[in-house]
Amino acid sequence: MLRLGIVGLPNVGKSTLFNALTAAKAEAANYPFCTVEPNVGMVEVPDPRLDKLAEIVLPKRTVPAVVQFVDIAGLVKGASQGEGLGNKFLQNIRETDAIVHVIRCFADDDVTHVMGQPDPARDKEIIELELALSDLATVEKRLDKVKRAAKAADKEALAELPALEAANAALSEGKPLWRAGLSADFLEKLGGMQLLTAKPVLYAANVTDEELSGEEGTYLKALREAVAGEHAEVVPFSAKIESELSELPADERAEFLASLGIESAGLDRLIRAGYSLLGLDTYFTAGEQEVRAWTIHKGDTAPKAAAVIHTDFEKGFIRAETASFADFVSLGGWKGAKEKGAVRSEGKEYVVQDGDVLLFRFNV
Ligand code: GDP
Repeated sequence: MLRLGIVGLPNVGKSTLFNALTAAKAEAANYPFCTVEPNVGMVEVPDPRLDKLAEIVLPKRTVPAVVQFVDIAGLVKGASQGEGLGNKFLQNIRETDAIVHVIRCFADDDVTHVMGQPDPARDKEIIELELALSDLATVEKRLDKVKRAAKAADKEALAELPALEAANAALSEGKPLWRAGLSADFLEKLGGMQLLTAKPVLYAANVTDEELSGEEGTYLKALREAVAGEHAEVVPFSAKIESELSELPADERAEFLASLGIESAGLDRLIRAGYSLLGLDTYFTAGEQEVRAWTIHKGDTAPKAAAVIHTDFEKGFIRAETASFADFVSLGGWKGAKEKGAVRSEGKEYVVQDGDVLLFRFNV
């Protein structure tokens, strides 16, 4: 499952987005291993392929993949100020796969901006400094420990020390690690600390509805300029419309969007950008009980894909009956696909492809 950590200045639309996520909530009972906490929003990943599969298999239930949005804004602030945070909170932050930085790109005199007027480049820097300070606190603690171990000629500590010192130098200047030019080797050595500024980032620009349908405004343009050269994606969305949408029944949403002349309020684009940023793919299981989408990393082998369902599936993996999405649909499901020889029996080395329909055979 993809976990996105949300950061941003106050009054940029984070809570509005969260409330929308909570209102549109995914059926929690289907995801027993997911955290349900006030700062965690869970949203279903829209995927028309899942509906196609359900039309064919007619399962008891259809379960989309979910993305978790974790509000880490307040938590980060506390962390950099050295306030004691609960372990569970810290765990939530650390477990996020990427950072979504929400930037206010709308003007509204009724909504106070903490710095007066929005200024995407400056606003972005303020949050980056906050994140860098939070990471600095973590790195300093670790550095202390590793320095002592290195003095005692501990080999691992000696290997880790230069990476920590480089990170410490960058963070002390308020520079996030994603712009510190650290080598892949250094970044790998820092990996265990799950530093926030070492995670991939994408920018969610909270824009006006006019901008979603028409020309981009000055704030959004300013943000694009500030981000140029970072290889990071800017995803325009509207927290306000997202929140209005979440109050409508599902079958009225398309019409509402059409009335505004837009295709989407942007949450789905944000999710897609997250998948692409992290190199994620989807595979499906399709049985009479349940048709379901599962999230994996590009390049994952069949046993790794099985582990997403249950770790026992990976341990006891024998093989995966595999059909491509296109074959499964055009041949009318497992039976038809088998008859036409379109079901392959794949082994441990098989690299699962996006859209594969899989049935695992395993020992318990
Ligand atoms: P947070 O502090 O980042 O969580 O920001 P909130 O979600 O609480 O939003 C702050 C204020 O901005 C609220 O009054 C929202 O109704 C308003 N707001 C949020 N998104 C938008 C938007 O897209 N357009 C406008 N005009 N107001 C918004």
